[in-house]
Amino acid sequence: MQRSRIKNILSDGNAGQSITVCGWVRTRRESKGIAFIALSDGSTQDTLQLVIPEAAPAFQKLTHCNTGAAVKVTGLLKESPAQGQKFEVEVSEIEIFGDADPAAYPLQKKGHTLEFLREIGHLRPRTNTFGAVFRVRNILAKAVHEFFQSRGFIWVHTPIITASDCEGAGDLFTITSLPLERLPATADGAVDFSQDFFGKQAYLTVSGQLEAEFLAMSLGDVYTFGPTFRAENSNTSRHLSEFWMIEPEMAFADLKDDMQLAEDFFHFLCRRVLEKGDSEIAFLEKFYKNTSVTELRDLSEKPFVHISYTDAIEELEKSKEKFEFPVKWGLDLQSEHERYLTDKVFKGPVIVTDYPKEIKAFYMRLNPDEKTVAAMDLLVPKIGEIIGGSQREERLDVLTERMLHAEIPLENMQWYLDLRRFGSAPHAGFGLGFERLVQYVTGMHNIRDVIPCPRAPQTIKF
Ligand code: ATP
Ligand code: MN
Repeated sequence: MQRSRIKNILSDGNAGQSITVCGWVRTRRESKGIAFIALSDGSTQDTLQLVIPEAAPAFQKLTHCNTGAAVKVTGLLKESPAQGQKFEVEVSEIEIFGDADPAAYPLQKKGHTLEFLREIGHLRPRTNTFGAVFRVRNILAKAVHEFFQSRGFIWVHTPIITASDCEGAGDLFTITSLPLERLPATADGAVDFSQDFFGKQAYLTVSGQLEAEFLAMSLGDVYTFGPTFRAENSNTSRHLSEFWMIEPEMAFADLKDDMQLAEDFFHFLCRRVLEKGDSEIAFLEKFYKNTSVTELRDLSEKPFVHISYTDAIEELEKSKEKFEFPVKWGLDLQSEHERYLTDKVFKGPVIVTDYPKEIKAFYMRLNPDEKTVAAMDLLVPKIGEIIGGSQREERLDVLTERMLHAEIPLENMQWYLDLRRFGSAPHAGFGLGFERLVQYVTGMHNIRDVIPCPRAPQTIKF
């Protein structure tokens, strides 16, 4: 079907031009014998105004053209006398593909709550809010590739089905083709996964990092960008059971390089959103006030504050804030602590480094103090942790020691240790939760509102 996109018409159209557009009716009103339709085709935040005078044959068809109807119109593009829009279309022909019964169509003109819209996940992308969010999501996804490709990183595809159960990043979903109503058992009563599809227990991946490491140790700088799964029962506004993660991994790099990459990356992403998503951000700023152009501009330029875990604990200990969870050297930072640092102390993003080894994964490089590891978390206001990264332990003896201490079965991990046996080198990387990024940039409070089909405990639709 030959059609122009509203986005292109509004940016490159010329008055006097004949155009054909397709889309969904947002609103329809009549005034002094003229019908006005605001048409949206999803390509942009803006709608295109269609003008249909009573005398036009198209006018008769409008009885079957309610809010939500899908239509195709042809007409003349004209400069609009109305404020706030450059063009309108004087319609000569209209074809109505499908009307939407006003008594049943849930998206009426009045605003709907985000909770209500979550219940109609298949229709919510038609709203201004979700149109904005999903377009910003697209801008960010493209920018991720632009950033890494422009720096010579190679995009690698790590598996979604994995046999590594030791990444320590959270609970795993087992995937199986065993008959659930009669599971084969071993002599000691456990499920006998040797009879399963892969001959052993397999899971949905919680991170592509371990595989990205062997690719970095051969291709140099690499990144993954794909779905990740966690079976933890976290019913929060920042956890999903299925989310997308971006994981760069760099050979010949240390923690400092890693932090610099994270900062440059974050700055680049914010800049791209400002350049390509200005009308979406303007809309979200106006309606929700949780994001702003000024804030994003600030974010796209300001260097991040760095603080060590030890100093962060000191900062928290001297605060007068009543925290629910205890603050003590050796304990992990809870979300309330993270937000205190970003929202109250530093009023912006903060990188916390050098966490105690006991609370971090076995693969993070042991610091000379032998108490902390070369880890870094990027914390941002309102959300908390958005990036978790580290320099990886490249010394065979130290890594083996830490794996034994963490009770990780070495026999399954010889391939990982091989990377330290053969041509080992310093390397570092991080994981950025893509939905947390979209959440942060758009200012949406709930992570379930930045992914088309959110999966969370007790929540799955479609
Ligand atoms: P948190 O402490 O917030 O649960 P984590 O420390 O378990 O996160 P990592 O294993 O370090 O997370 O994962 C790297 C990044 O992936 C995090 O910084 C975050 O942005 C994102 N992430 C982790 N878990 C989730 C989740 N359940 N839903 C959405 N994003 C997540
Ligand atoms: Mn983390």
